[in-house]
Amino acid sequence: MTQSIQTLLDEIDRILTHGVRSEYATELLLGKEGLLRRAYHQLKSLPQTERRNLGKALHEREARAKNLLGSIPTVIQKDTEALYFDPTFPGGASPIGHRHPVGIIINEIVSFFTKMNFQVREGTEIETAEYNFDLLNIPPAHPAREAHDTIWINRQKGTLLRTHTSPMQIRVMAKSKPPLRVIVPGRVYRYEAEDATHASVFHQVEGFVVQQGTTVANLKWTLHAALESIFGRDIELRFRPSYFPFTQPSLEIDLACIHCEGKGCTICKQTGWLEILGAGMIHPQVLKNVGYNPARVSGFAFGVGIERLAMIKYKITDIRSFLTPDRFVIDQFPGVLQ
Ligand SMILES: [Zn+2]
Repeated sequence: MTQSIQTLLDEIDRILTHGVRSEYATELLLGKEGLLRRAYHQLKSLPQTERRNLGKALHEREARAKNLLGSIPTVIQKDTEALYFDPTFPGGASPIGHRHPVGIIINEIVSFFTKMNFQVREGTEIETAEYNFDLLNIPPAHPAREAHDTIWINRQKGTLLRTHTSPMQIRVMAKSKPPLRVIVPGRVYRYEAEDATHASVFHQVEGFVVQQGTTVANLKWTLHAALESIFGRDIELRFRPSYFPFTQPSLEIDLACIHCEGKGCTICKQTGWLEILGAGMIHPQVLKNVGYNPARVSGFAFGVGIERLAMIKYKITDIRSFLTPDRFVIDQFPGVLQ
């Protein structure tokens, strides 16, 4: 915020007259980002005629400030010459916080899907291998377990920190009957060497629908509408065949780069496309595992990384930014107290 030079001068005078003689006052007046430094900076942009008088006024204040504060006393002194503390000074306003970018995206997803009549479930972060893997069609020796670098709590007992939000698919289906429309936002864990695109703690949203006659067309429509709502604009998606043990067919979904409209830029690494999520039709074996009859009902499921969406939407290049406690990083994001 730029303040006019007159405002700065008034503030300087106020402190010279009423302020306490202290290190704080010294910093405030004479510090690197102090009032005098800022006033001199403003001076440069003024016309020559104004500059002379204001310059003089500033020099005079600077001399007085140095005279009064030059020795940087660390305790309040009693002599009458000294500045004194005025308890009637109004305090500074406390800054109001706002949501973290991960929270903003989760809220947008929840808001879209609740309008579509989905339930929101959360589940526990400590899971068993049975729910995290076995019932999702990933038996013990299955190579897909390798892709999930797991943080085990107790390997013998099969307890772990969930590697994805998919175990809640099983937990919800096992306790309810179709039709079901559910999303599961939550934190997940991987045993990862962290770098700009890998974190050992991040967030996912799992979504699934099970009812009679669900098809890939329903999946495509739902994801297209959800992503348009999250990015707040028209989007183009590309569906590629892929492999996940718990879906069949499985799809990898790419978004036409929203920063270069598919022409190629640094964000999409010149490809025009951004890998955005995995999805598919729930595997018949998974439906059987929870006691459903795959001949009667079918379902689709998708899992999306929240940080991935936030990185694309806000052009964040390092996933580790989300875990920093540095306010300068998170203060850049819009979405005041949503
Ligand atoms: Zn691009």
